[in-house]
Amino acid sequence: MKDQPTGLHEKLIRGFELEMISPPCVPGSEQWSGQARLDTDITEVLPYLNAYFPETSYDRDAQVVLMKRDGKKCAFRPHLISVAPVDDREEASRLLNKLAGLVNETWRNRSTIEPSYEQKAIPTVMELYRLLPRTNCKKCGYATCMAFAAGLREGKTELSCCPELNLKQFAQNREALEAILSTYSL
Ligand code: SF4
Repeated sequence: MKDQPTGLHEKLIRGFELEMISPPCVPGSEQWSGQARLDTDITEVLPYLNAYFPETSYDRDAQVVLMKRDGKKCAFRPHLISVAPVDDREEASRLLNKLAGLVNETWRNRSTIEPSYEQKAIPTVMELYRLLPRTNCKKCGYATCMAFAAGLREGKTELSCCPELNLKQFAQNREALEAILSTYSL
C-alpha cells in the first residue's frame, strides 16, 4: 500500500513506496535510512527548495538538495526522498510524509519563490575516496572504497562502518572526513 502525503490543494507528490535501508556493515542495525520512491519526478522543485529553505546544499549536476531537519539528514532527488537516521518504519513513514508535504507546499507556493541555482559545497565522491584507506578490504560491506565513498555521500552508510579508519595511521583522514561530513546533510 502506498503512503499518502498530507493534504494540500496542488500536490506534486501523491504517493510513494517506502523502503527501509540499513548500512551494509551492520545487518540488523537499529539505525535505518528511510527512502520514499516517488510516484513523480520532482526535479523542477529542487531549485525552489534550495531557495525556500536556508540551510540547504544543492548540487545541480547531481540533482540533489540536502538539508537537516529535526536532527535528521534529508535528501531530495528527482524520484527519491531519503531521511536518516530513523529507528523504524513508523518513524520513517511519518518523517517522509512530512518531507513530501514540504515538497508539495514549496511547489504550491512556487509563484512566490525566486528559484535558486546557487550551489553550496557538497563533497564529491572522489574527495571522500581520497581520504579513505583505499585498500578495498570490503570490511564495510562494500566491494571497494570508491563504492563506500559513494554510499557515504548518499547517506547510505557511515564512517563507523570502515574499521580501518580507526587505525592510528588514518586518524587524520578520519578527522578530515568527519569535518567534511559535518558540513552537509547526507
Ligand atoms: S572498510 Fe574502509 S578500507 Fe575497507 S573497503 Fe571499506 S572503506 Fe575501504
